[in-house]
Amino acid sequence: MMPQTPAARVCSHCDGFPVVHITTGTTPDGQRRTLAATCPVCKGTGTRRTLPAALIRAGK
Ligand SMILES: [Zn+2]
Repeated sequence: MMPQTPAARVCSHCDGFPVVHITTGTTPDGQRRTLAATCPVCKGTGTRRTLPAALIRAGK
């Protein structure tokens, strides 16, 4: 049996980690401040879809 390939490819930009929370420190209240950085390529999905053939042809 051949191994099945996944339907969607993992985004090469974020390598499958589309949302990264960056800790910026703590507020005077003691709360953690985090920034959520979403991958601009896959829009936070972690996978990339293949463009439709029509779009690819239109670019030529
Ligand atoms: Zn991505």
